Amino acid sequence: MCAGVDGRPIACDGRLYFRCAGCGLVFLDASLRPSPDRERAEYDRHENDPADPRYRAFLSRSLDEVRMRVPPPAHGLDFGCGPGPALVAMACEAGYAMDAYDPFYAPDMRVFERSYDFITCTEVVEHLFAPGVELDRLWSLLAPGGVLVVQSARVLDDERFRSWHYRRDPTHVVFFADETFGWLALRWGARLCLPRRDVAVLLKPDAHERVQGEDR
Ligand SMILES: [Zn+2]
Repeated sequence: MCAGVDGRPIACDGRLYFRCAGCGLVFLDASLRPSPDRERAEYDRHENDPADPRYRAFLSRSLDEVRMRVPPPAHGLDFGCGPGPALVAMACEAGYAMDAYDPFYAPDMRVFERSYDFITCTEVVEHLFAPGVELDRLWSLLAPGGVLVVQSARVLDDERFRSWHYRRDPTHVVFFADETFGWLALRWGARLCLPRRDVAVLLKPDAHERVQGEDR
């Protein structure tokens, strides 16, 4: 993430991970990353039914954070929507306009040419090989005053990491810690909220806040 070179190794189950001293990110050794075919096969098995109430409740953790801060109508992007774009459907029902992007299921590159009032990224960042590059790009798409919501279970200490079920999904290659989001917030000049163990909210200052910040 921070391109730090100081990664401390964590070996478990015959797999090698590193924890970055700069940003706290834990990442799988690059040689162990799944191939695109393997990734696609795994994602095709995900049962992300937009009508499933349990899945909707899971996604509403992120959508509720949007609704608290950005009232409809507003224009959002769901980054990494997957094969069943349930969050897009839920946001549209709530009165938002939504675009969706996914490298496998909705590869519409036009989403990167406009700006958004909010961006959701649910159960996505743990799959990214270059999370810093992808998140910088998303942040650049957010309008002033916009909201980025990232849903992904956050990594704790090494001992808990070793026995963590979340680690065992072969497509989960990076794990954010609380401090990884702190590092991003500092990098972007964002306000950070961590309302849940698996939800992070990053707020982009609007023009007014930026002027206030400069006065201080
Ligand atoms: Zn780092």
